[in-house]
Amino acid sequence: MALVVQRPKLTLAEKLYLPSIIAGLLVTLKHLRKVVTGKTKVTMQYPEEKWDSHLPDWYRGAPTLVADEHGKERCVACQLCEFICPPRAITIHPEEIPGDTKWAKVEKRPKEFEIDMIRCIYCGLCEEVCPEQAIFLQKDYSITGYSRAEMKHDKKKLYELGGIKTGLVYKWNEKK
Ligand code: SF4
Ligand code: SF4
Repeated sequence: MALVVQRPKLTLAEKLYLPSIIAGLLVTLKHLRKVVTGKTKVTMQYPEEKWDSHLPDWYRGAPTLVADEHGKERCVACQLCEFICPPRAITIHPEEIPGDTKWAKVEKRPKEFEIDMIRCIYCGLCEEVCPEQAIFLQKDYSITGYSRAEMKHDKKKLYELGGIKTGLVYKWNEKK
């Protein structure tokens, strides 16, 4: 059996279409006024403007190496982070600390420490597993380069980005 759908009864305003068009234009003009007066900002002028001040404390950006307050590298080249890294972005070559320092025969240090930022997925497992609080994900998210080689952060670059962290750092609680 055929079902008859009744046509809706339109008012005169609806038949004219004009009121609806004017109402739509008013909404557009309202938004235009907000943009022109600076109340609504629709475009961020990246990279001159960045989200940095909006990032939460727990934001996971680029992994970096940190030194302690004496400038000594915290990393003891245990290679746990290299082992745990899911995409195998970390490469470490450990070495002995030279015999004329007090840490000789006590700890090792990385001769080479490289993180391939093309592979890194910013998961934070390296930071979580590190027993020496030597590797931290900083808030830096704009890691760029013109070549694959540039995207491999060597030890020097990792310490430049990481800087110095003093004292004991609590990673996963409110004291961080
Ligand atoms: S953040 Fe994750 S993927 Fe990146 S280096 Fe650390 S463990 Fe590897
Ligand atoms: S960064 Fe931490 S986990 Fe990785 S090798 Fe150094 S001490 Fe070990």
